[in-house]
Amino acid sequence: MPRRVPLVVYPFLKNALFSKVFKDFLIGWIGERPLRGGVGNWLASRYTSGIMSFAKVDVIVVGVGTMGAAAPYHLARRGASVLGLEQHAIPHTLGAHHGFSRAIRSAYYEHPNYVPLLKRSFALWDALERTSGQRVLYRTGGLYMGPEDAAFITGATRAATAHQLPYERLSSAQLRERFPQFELPSHYTGFLEAEAGFVVPEIAMNAHVEGALRGGATLLGHVKVTSWQVTSEGVRIETNRGAFRAKHVVLTAGAWAPLWSAGLPFALKVTRQTWGWFWPKVLAPFALGTLPTWFIESEPGSGYYGFPMMPEQPGLKLALHQPGTETTAESVDRRIDLAGDEAPLRRCLEGHLPEGNGHLLALRTCLYTNSPDGHFIIDRHPTSANVTIACGFSGHGFKFAPVVGEILADLALLGRTDHPIDFLSMDRFR
Ligand SMILES: Cc1cc2nc3c(=O)[nH]c(=O)nc-3n(C[C@H](O)[C@H](O)[C@H](O)COP(=O)(O)OP(=O)(O)OC[C@H]3O[C@@H](n4cnc5c(N)ncnc54)[C@H](O)[C@@H]3O)c2cc1C
Repeated sequence: MPRRVPLVVYPFLKNALFSKVFKDFLIGWIGERPLRGGVGNWLASRYTSGIMSFAKVDVIVVGVGTMGAAAPYHLARRGASVLGLEQHAIPHTLGAHHGFSRAIRSAYYEHPNYVPLLKRSFALWDALERTSGQRVLYRTGGLYMGPEDAAFITGATRAATAHQLPYERLSSAQLRERFPQFELPSHYTGFLEAEAGFVVPEIAMNAHVEGALRGGATLLGHVKVTSWQVTSEGVRIETNRGAFRAKHVVLTAGAWAPLWSAGLPFALKVTRQTWGWFWPKVLAPFALGTLPTWFIESEPGSGYYGFPMMPEQPGLKLALHQPGTETTAESVDRRIDLAGDEAPLRRCLEGHLPEGNGHLLALRTCLYTNSPDGHFIIDRHPTSANVTIACGFSGHGFKFAPVVGEILADLALLGRTDHPIDFLSMDRFR
């Protein structure tokens, strides 16, 4: 007969098992082992309720937002042990990964060098849809309207020509005939790109986060990183929930990146942005399948843009693409200023979309993190080869999330990438 442990002993066993001494022993034991799946995840969940200690991982990603969800997704798929730390909930609506739609297009007026990255991004969004079983990308077509010499029409034409992308140029008469929803000055012409459309950020985030978790990554919400320090073995990260160690750290802090950019050769400017949703007077012209994703020049260098109506949020969404009031992620006023926030959008509806000019349903705020030249910054940290930084996405980064995730995985694991990103390096500011 096997001997039974007297019931009275169980509380002592339990206390011993979860005592600090045993915990320290366990953590020491797994210290240099990769934290991935199975035991790693169990330990993570066991100890996340108090002070946390973790095994050293291959990569820590600071900020599980747009780029910081895509990076662990790609890292985990390559078998790396990865820990993502997010100061807020995963996901949340205080940064730049909410709002139900983000425009995606290939004929990139900002710079033709983005086109190869966009080709890869489209392919990776399609792949993410297949693996997650969720609809992320809507190819509604992208229609850009403005004077013949508007920067985004000439720029889109330049990018499309350089990379042999299909597009149509529309005269003002063709614009009126094919897209009667819009009222435009008579000298406005159109540039139509069939492959363009929008990505749903909430679904994209979920797909990346869940894919990363299922792939073995550990992602922790409500863990705020307070400092990082390069050590002889890698990088040590301090947080409000304990210290963590990794061979490599990826900083994807979005609008909080200025807090991390001391000593870097550029300054980031965070701006408060808004979107509005309106219930149109007539619905049919604005339906998904009828209205393309659109952009109208309002003044040189900036413009209104919007999306067809979609299932995730009632109403017709539009916004103004130009840097708003300068602020910081910590001090931004997220309250709605009815007069100031609604007025420019109402002007666009009155002037360009009269049948869409219905009741206001919602106004929401978001943050742009603008680099000095409006282009992204993806590079090694100048003081350490073990730290990679990706920031300054300047209000147009979301569409690139999967390819940026892939690039960050390359840089963290291999120290280099085959993607053509030299034009995004920090050297341009030196
Ligand atoms: C109004 C608006 C409209 C936009 N429209 C488009 C569009 O149509 N198409 C497009 O491609 N792009 C668009 N963008 C831009 C795009 O959304 C951003 O470029 C992109 O989301 C930036 O991603 P990110 O990872 O840098 O930031 P985020 O997604 O905000 O992620 C950063 C994360 O880091 C976390 N973090 C920061 N500091 C810490 C810390 N110390 N510890 C732990 N976590 C931390 C934050 O909490 C946050 O979750 C738009 C942006 C806005 C605001």
